[in-house]
Amino acid sequence: MIEHLVRKNILTLKPHVTARDEFDGEASVFLNANENPFGSPLPNGQLLNRYPDPFHTELKHKISSVKGLPTPNIFLSNGINEAVDLLFRIFCEPAFDSCIICPPTYGVYEANAQLNNVAIIKIPLLPSFDLDVEAILENSADAKLLFVCSPNNPTGNSFHKDDLELLLEKFNGVVVVDEAFINYSKQTSCVSLLPFFPNLIVLQTFSKAWGLAALRVGIAFASQMVIELLDKVKQPFNINAVSQSLISEAISNIAWVNEHIRKTVALRMMMVEKLSVLKVVEKVYSSDASFVLVKFTDANIVYHKLLEHGIVVRNVSYMLHCENCLRITIGTETENETLIRVLNQIS
Ligand SMILES: *Cc1c(COP(=O)(O)O)cnc(C)c1O
Repeated sequence: MIEHLVRKNILTLKPHVTARDEFDGEASVFLNANENPFGSPLPNGQLLNRYPDPFHTELKHKISSVKGLPTPNIFLSNGINEAVDLLFRIFCEPAFDSCIICPPTYGVYEANAQLNNVAIIKIPLLPSFDLDVEAILENSADAKLLFVCSPNNPTGNSFHKDDLELLLEKFNGVVVVDEAFINYSKQTSCVSLLPFFPNLIVLQTFSKAWGLAALRVGIAFASQMVIELLDKVKQPFNINAVSQSLISEAISNIAWVNEHIRKTVALRMMMVEKLSVLKVVEKVYSSDASFVLVKFTDANIVYHKLLEHGIVVRNVSYMLHCENCLRITIGTETENETLIRVLNQIS
């Protein structure tokens, strides 16, 4: 069990009870929540005057049937970013506890650690971009949270499953695996490990493979205890009604999503091939995600030349092990061709 890792004030916290929580049965006249009965001047008589379901019941059932996990193991957040913040609030006493982050990686873990006044222990990835499991375990005595991003942003690689399992076995705190890009990966999700490791939390999102970044919906898969804590600390209406209903609709067409995942992976392979032969390119790192990390002879020059042609990529050359690297998202066929054409000119 991991109850001893939870902040005491969170264990005893009584969450705010909304009008929606107090009564969710059938009735014909709802005068309990100070909602506006007249609606708003939206086209098509669209009604958004009522507060949404705070526990996203219908959407959770749909996600449950797609992912094959029961709803008590599912939490929905306002993007992965909200889940990261909530996990700090649940497990880390401000100005006392610490977490482990493995750079180069997604910046949101560090930002939310700072926001919550939680100390950060940085255990860099090895130059091969693998986890330094030994160093993590040696330095993790009291750390409450360990963030692992797999496939990792910005490097694009997935971590070895045996490394993740070893960490889950030996690390004394909670292991958070961010699987924002898992749908593009050869590797399978860590969700299947949940029954064996109560200290595992897996984060996924509708922002990437599902193509719904604007709706801001993320998923946390975890033990029922962790899910109950997340439900308790979140703001009551963290996912709005429009997002809930549009995500529900998108979920019913998985075939479309899967087809576009395959397409993105094919375009990624084509991109790697075409980038590899360019004069300005030193190395294209293999990727399990919807972007590639590319080492150039001079990343800053290439970055600004691309900008002159109206092409924006991410300059990550300031990050550890990423000298002269740019992170390039896989776009449409046309967008990718434009990029390669301009890079050819620069070469
Ligand atoms: C894009 C991305 C996310 C997405 O977060 P949302 O808040 O769900 O949009 C999370 N983690 C990583 C590593 C990402 O690259």
